[in-house]
Formats: sequence, structure tokens, C-alpha cells
Amino acid sequence: MSISRRDFLKIAAATSAAFVLSQYKADIIKVFAQKGDYVHICWLNGAACTGCSVSLAQAADPDLLEVLMSITTYTSGLPIALPDWMYVVHPASGTLAVEYINDWIAHEGPGPKILVVEGAMQMPGFCETGGRDFRDWVKDAAAAADYIVAFGSCSSYGGIPHAKGNPTGAMGVQDFLKEVGMADKAAGVVNLPRCPGHPDSLILTLASLLQGVVPELDEYNRPKAFYGRNIHEEQCPFRAFYDRGIFADYGDSEHGCRFKIGCKGPATWADCPTRKWNDHTSFCIEVGAPCIGCSEPAWPDGDFAPFFVELPQVPTLLGYPAETWGTAFAGAAALGVAVHLARRATRKKSGEEKEEGGE
Ligand code: SF4
Ligand code: SF4
Repeated sequence: MSISRRDFLKIAAATSAAFVLSQYKADIIKVFAQKGDYVHICWLNGAACTGCSVSLAQAADPDLLEVLMSITTYTSGLPIALPDWMYVVHPASGTLAVEYINDWIAHEGPGPKILVVEGAMQMPGFCETGGRDFRDWVKDAAAAADYIVAFGSCSSYGGIPHAKGNPTGAMGVQDFLKEVGMADKAAGVVNLPRCPGHPDSLILTLASLLQGVVPELDEYNRPKAFYGRNIHEEQCPFRAFYDRGIFADYGDSEHGCRFKIGCKGPATWADCPTRKWNDHTSFCIEVGAPCIGCSEPAWPDGDFAPFFVELPQVPTLLGYPAETWGTAFAGAAALGVAVHLARRATRKKSGEEKEEGGE
């Protein structure tokens, strides 16, 4: 099977439909299996909590173990470890471990080389591994890579380490590569933000890249297949409560929109309501929490802070507080247009804040 751009979109969109997925699952595994031991992935960890590595272990579509078992050494039929290098799971340590990373950087041969980065970049001296600054590892690995994937919010845009104050100068891989004069490499980085990164988005993106297909990206280099739809406007199952002005308090997981407890869904683009987490079990809003907007470049600052305070722009729209909208505007087309405009303004502002350093 080969994955075209169109296939990728179809597969990415189908993952919430179990009956369609079971067919695609096998196809995705086939993509990895066909590449055999020509899959070369180096996974480097910067400033992070390792939650994205743990999240990957929860991959369900397909299951991570199924993917790993499908990749065999050339003639032996024995499974090999994927990636070539990954701090969290690799048994090697010390100089042997460093050799593995250097081998990957120097490796030339069939099959694409994919660099996955988890965690933020920092100023020199804050993150070292194998006796070198992490920045130097990423520079060398990025120069050698055919594709670069930033998995999770920290490697995408700086994430939590980049939060206001930012004492270590944390930033995402794309900004870092621009800063060190590798703008061409920066332009191709595929960002898969969320805190942690969603395993489906990584497995499907890797399968696509192995076929030589770069997913269609949005203005923040996120694949549109996972980040193309606004949570509040296009997906949230609690939207009817919002429209009727019924708002939940803390701890109420069944009833009411979470806007008043800080839901940032109106400013967030991610497929959590449809894809869900932990083998499609649930997602933040469904379990009673607000969406804190972890997929967005300005997060955790800008409009996304504080987490449990309502978005500033939307409720002041037209001068009416959110709880009166249900009675004042229910069914009014004007409200839909106005909220849409506010959403666009919020998105634009978030992007601008990111460009200014997110502070
Ligand atoms: S504010 Fe949040 S909980 Fe309410 S409808 Fe929008 S996305 Fe859903
Ligand atoms: S629902 Fe919102 S906070 Fe939760 S994972 Fe998705 S984007 Fe992040």
C-alpha cells in the first residue's frame, strides 16, 4: 500500500470510526512492514517531562506493539526496535548510546531518515547529553534528517518550559532552527503539538512520511488532518449548552458548557472531541475539565492563561456576558457571525503573541 495525500486525509479522518479504522489499521502497519529495516528514526529529548514518550506507548490506531513487530531486520524476520535511537526505551547507555546517535546521523542508505524531537530547545548550557549541548545534537541531526517532526507542545512551540518568564530561553524546534541559520530545515518541520502529543497523530504522520508524503500543514505547520477544525465551533458535544447559556461549575462532568470554568475551546484547533484519548475513551471536556488549548502556539500564555479563567474576548462580545446569550440571542445569525469574528481575532492574536515570544 502507498499512502497518498488523499489517503492520509481519509485515514486521519477515519480514526474515530472503529469499523473503518480496523481496515486502515492493517494498511498502516503494512506501510511500516514494507519499509522493513529501512525505517530510520532518531528520537531526541530536550526540555520535557517525557509525557510524550509515555503517550506514544498508548498508541491504539495502530497499537505501537503491532507497528514495532511489523518491522523486521532484513532477512531474519526478527523484529527490530523502532526508532534507531530513543532515550526512554533504548537499552544502551554511556558511550554506546552516544554511538547510536552518531551512527544515525552518519547513516546513508535506503529509506528516509526521520528526526523526532520531544521537548523544548533551551539556551546553551541548560540541556546537555552525551557530553554535548542538546542544541548541537539537534543541529547535526536536523542537518542529516530527511524529515523533522516536533512531537508535543514543547518541541513544537516551547510549551510549558517556554511559559512566561522563560528563564532558560525555551523555544520550539522550528524557531531554534531559524535562530541557528537553518531556515530551510525549519520550514519543513511538522509540528504535532498537544500536551502530551497524541499518539495517533505521530503514527499516522510517520506512516505518511515513510511514503514520501508530507501532510498538508496549516499556518503553524500542523497537519490540517488533526488540527484543521475548531473545537468549540465544529466539534464540541457540549456546544448546545453554550448556545442555550447553560454553564457548568467545577466537577460537573455531565451537564453544561465549560466556558465559565475556563474552556479555551473557542480558540483551539485540534481533533480531541472526535479522536479522543486513551484508545478513544474520552477527552478533557468530556470528563468535566475545560480545554486549556494545549495545541495552540501561544499556550500556556496569552489568552490561554490562567487556565481556569474564561477567555477574555468572547464573553465581552457585543457587551453581553456569556450567560445571557442563550436568552438574548438564541438562534440569531448575528451571534454566529460575531462569535466567528471573535474566534478569528483570538486566533490571530494568539499567533501574534507567539511571534513576540508568547509573553
Ligand atoms: S466553550 Fe468549551 S465546553 Fe463550551 S461548547 Fe465551547 S468547546 Fe464546548
Ligand atoms: S481538549 Fe484541549 S486541552 Fe485537552 S488535549 Fe485537546 S487541545 Fe489539549
